[in-house]
Amino acid sequence: MKQNPFKGTSASPGIIIGDVFIFDSQKYVIEKTLIPPKDVPLEIKKLKDAIEVSKNEVLKIKEAVNREIGETQAAIFNFHHLMLDDPQVLNTAFEIIEKENVTAEYAIQTTFDKIISNLSQLDNAYIKERQSDYNDICLRVIGNLSGIKHKTLETLDKKVIVVAHDLSPSDTANMDKSKVLGFAIEMGGPTSHTVIMAKALEIPAVVGINNILGFVKNGDKIIVDGTEGVVIVNPDNKTLKKYQIKKYEFETVEKSLFKLAQLKAKTLDGYEVELAANIELPDEIEHVKKHGAKGIGLFRTEFIFLRKVDLPTENEQFEEYKKVVKAMSPDPVIIRTFDLGGDKFMSKSALMEELNPFLGLRAIRLSLKFPDMFKTQLRAILHASVYGNVKILFPMISGINEFRQAKGLIESVKEDFKNKSIPFDQNIQMGIMIEIPSAALIAESLAQEVDFFSIGTNDLIQYLLAVDRGNEKVSYLYDPLHPSVLKLIKYVIDSAHNNKIWVGVCGEMAAEPVLAFILIGLGVDELSMSSRAIPDVKRMIRNIRLSDAKTFADKILKLSDPNRIRKEAERALLKLIPDMVLT
Ligand code: PEP
Ligand code: MG
Repeated sequence: MKQNPFKGTSASPGIIIGDVFIFDSQKYVIEKTLIPPKDVPLEIKKLKDAIEVSKNEVLKIKEAVNREIGETQAAIFNFHHLMLDDPQVLNTAFEIIEKENVTAEYAIQTTFDKIISNLSQLDNAYIKERQSDYNDICLRVIGNLSGIKHKTLETLDKKVIVVAHDLSPSDTANMDKSKVLGFAIEMGGPTSHTVIMAKALEIPAVVGINNILGFVKNGDKIIVDGTEGVVIVNPDNKTLKKYQIKKYEFETVEKSLFKLAQLKAKTLDGYEVELAANIELPDEIEHVKKHGAKGIGLFRTEFIFLRKVDLPTENEQFEEYKKVVKAMSPDPVIIRTFDLGGDKFMSKSALMEELNPFLGLRAIRLSLKFPDMFKTQLRAILHASVYGNVKILFPMISGINEFRQAKGLIESVKEDFKNKSIPFDQNIQMGIMIEIPSAALIAESLAQEVDFFSIGTNDLIQYLLAVDRGNEKVSYLYDPLHPSVLKLIKYVIDSAHNNKIWVGVCGEMAAEPVLAFILIGLGVDELSMSSRAIPDVKRMIRNIRLSDAKTFADKILKLSDPNRIRKEAERALLKLIPDMVLT
């Protein structure tokens, strides 16, 4: 069993070295215990009381988390409260007590076991990860029924790195934030609470580590490299030294990059590139500002589903959008309408199973198929537009009629707002994602009807090169520097400029300085990326000339080998910025 160093999934970047604290999330074993029928009403009352106590506890935690960490993390507990109020859940438990003459503990455990087993059948990573919420709620009620105290991370006597199989939202909410330096967790995917929490608190974390608990013990020394997704238990001196240096370097670079945040993304010859951030959730705004973004270039609204099981209502959406728009004002916020389907948050039960979901009922196609859902979102966006500078972006447009239909729906919502005297930005810009080759190739005609283009290179590359963006087996073919990609991007940019509209890039390609250098040379007006990438790209921009980038782009458009293009680009950039760290 040789796993050390352990490889997991990078959940929150940074490096931390410290002592292991093993945290066993509890699981009670509840035996089926019968009660005399005459005690049934008493048992039901006991359960009702425990539910009330649990609800109060949840509200208290929610308030504390809201105060100390942030709203998203606190919102998790809304869901807990909702569950404890759900008549379906409660009635099932009461019925079990009545019909089977069993204890309240056994009844509630059985009820939640059923819910969890139903969830595990769904082919949806996000919903599956919510199982830890249900466990958490169940544990709380059983704790309150039996008087057994829930183990917590509240009272740690020294600074530690928490190693656990899983952490529930209550575990992370209650923990002593000044003592927890990092996480190494066996469970957890990219949307797990541990990840959300670790990112919000900016502590290094690795999740999805296979069987680390079978290897470590309390007090072991451990390195968590949240950037690389690596965990090393009891490192030798040489490894320790190496990571101490790496930690120092990471922190120094972070500090120096933050200094850049206030400076403009302007080239040496005076060309200013709009540098914006991609966000998934409103509470990333603080992070966005810290990294020096001028606006939100892509708000992936489908992530609002993170907090919901059902479709979010118009008002819930409006509140989310308003928060972002107000916080960023006067800088622009580009709100992309739901990009659901494909791999994003749709369960098999919600939609017919599709053979090729990436080519299926996804994004704008899904929105147009369900116009009521779509209009609800458009109303929420228009409503939020009075609070700042909002632009609407439609994902996965493949031809002109999809845009016209979407625009038609917006016009009808606008008409309705006018009739009801609801204020909105009458001149709101409407743009489209250019991420399907068919749209890229008719960019000239699309540019005559839309206000802007945002090139989604993540999907554009996948569809152009016929390479699934999430399939490791073919990832070697996924190349942003494939000449077809560069030529198509150039065509889209020229088409936009010929028609006097602006064009941005919001795919991952924008986030790598070497590739951003090429995109600037190709003529792009705006680059949008995850906040963390902004300082590096800004630094590159401040050290180049637009004229050099243009000359270079013209040169590589004539080349046919992606490897050669990359080498040339790295060489050109290193010549301009000798201490540039290439990734
Ligand atoms: C893209 O496809 O490049 C993009 C930015 O959208 P997403 O990654 O959300 O599909
Ligand atoms: Mg996309």
